[in-house]
Amino acid sequence: MNQLYIDGAWTDGSGGRTWTVTNPATGAPLADVAVAAAEDVDRAVGAARRAFDDGPWPRLDPLERGRLLRRLADRIRAELDELAMTDTRNIGKPIRDTRGFDVPCAADLFESYAGLADKIAGSCYGTLPDNVTMQFREPMGVIAAIVPWNFPLTNAAIKLAPILACGNTVVLKPSEVAPLSALMLARLTDEVGFPPGVVNVIHGAGAETGAALVRHPGVDKITFTGRHQTGVEMLEAAKIGMKGVMLELGGKSPSIVFPDAPLDHVVNGVITGIFFHLGQVCVAASRLLVQRDQHDELLQRIVAKAQTLRQGDPTDPQNHLGCLATPLHCAHVRRCVEQAQQEGARCVLSGPVSDDPQNCFYPPTIFDGVTPDMTIARQEVFGPVLSVLTFRDTDDAVRLANDCEFGLMANIWTADGGRALHVARQLRAGRIAVNGGGALRPNVPVFGYKLSGIGAELGFAETVHEYTNSKSILYSLATEKTSWPE
Ligand code: NAD
Repeated sequence: MNQLYIDGAWTDGSGGRTWTVTNPATGAPLADVAVAAAEDVDRAVGAARRAFDDGPWPRLDPLERGRLLRRLADRIRAELDELAMTDTRNIGKPIRDTRGFDVPCAADLFESYAGLADKIAGSCYGTLPDNVTMQFREPMGVIAAIVPWNFPLTNAAIKLAPILACGNTVVLKPSEVAPLSALMLARLTDEVGFPPGVVNVIHGAGAETGAALVRHPGVDKITFTGRHQTGVEMLEAAKIGMKGVMLELGGKSPSIVFPDAPLDHVVNGVITGIFFHLGQVCVAASRLLVQRDQHDELLQRIVAKAQTLRQGDPTDPQNHLGCLATPLHCAHVRRCVEQAQQEGARCVLSGPVSDDPQNCFYPPTIFDGVTPDMTIARQEVFGPVLSVLTFRDTDDAVRLANDCEFGLMANIWTADGGRALHVARQLRAGRIAVNGGGALRPNVPVFGYKLSGIGAELGFAETVHEYTNSKSILYSLATEKTSWPE
């Protein structure tokens, strides 16, 4: 049984409740995991509080903090196979992706932020001649980090690396669907010597364990990645305690293809953008905007290429596609597809869809003739479903791309650098990928426009802003009395 990790020790949840995590590819039980009740949340926050208020972590030489983060990166690399297989079995993501992306990316994040730990600096202000004014950046306190299931280990690392580099303590709640690699990460922090209470990992359903965590008065800041609707609940919780909050939410990213872009490159990029991890990616490029004249040729090539993708057992390194993460999520994707058909979108690529509601294998699906008012053009599916829309000219493309409630990422494909920059400046999204350059980099901020979020994840300056407090010390050198009340 997988226990909770609180105050440097492994413990059952109060009342001994457990939750069985399932392998979505087979439907077989994978592991039983302890569920944290409100008392356990209280213990975890208490441990993080003590570690912050009285423990060595925020007072440690930042170089030493950096060394520990670097050691953690090394341990993650050493455990590549086990971590990758854990996430693959837990969410049905192909082993080629968890081995090739998720685990290396998590290690890179800790290595990168190890370098930030000793470079956090304040400022000095020139105010009056007899005044010395200093601004310090101090660790913020106890951070509640809540993450979704789509990149279990990587999402945990995206939160933990910046939080810890800044000298905070953390209570991490992974998704109840995919908690196993976060618990392994807790074991690795223990092995490399993080002081007790600095990293705590609890597990349980969002509405119970998650809600108790974000409403706990001992938490200084909430950092959340997940659905927009849950993000609204985070704002409610933050409001009560006047806590800081950072939200990384959903997306409906466009790929705008201009006719001068090299087609082979575009086809691969569009396919990767929507079908990597079966579209269960916040930045999934789920809207393809193509110029009318080029529509037929591009669509035909995209459909042909998508048909070459191999889908099957996620543990088989030959397979490009595994399965969706849960039967519940699969049912959501089916509903989105049915609605698209009812609203008049034309399905030009599909595949066998099982009648068994427990079967999570869902095929790549493409809808043509999509109009901006259709639900499939507006709502996040978080599945392998591409919507194709056409545009007349550049202005029309920009208008269509921005006609969306989300603004996480946008993709531009063109050989004309001037046009790329011109369009990029007009798009309302936090990350613009030109010609496929959108990969996550540890030092580049992730920022959501519109309903895609509040605040920035990653980026060194942004991290310091998000996870440290500002303290100004205004030191007077004056020796004479002030004029008031004389
Ligand atoms: P979700 O919002 O359902 O759950 C995310 C986490 O929040 C889980 O750990 C869950 O247990 C917890 N939670 C749920 N209700 C809660 C509550 N009331 N109080 C506290 N915690 C609660 O999201 P999901 O279905 O796990 O993930 C998919 C979503 O995540 C998609 O919308 C996707 O776009 C988004 N996402 C965004 C990014 C980004 O960087 N912007 C990255 C990955 C995923």
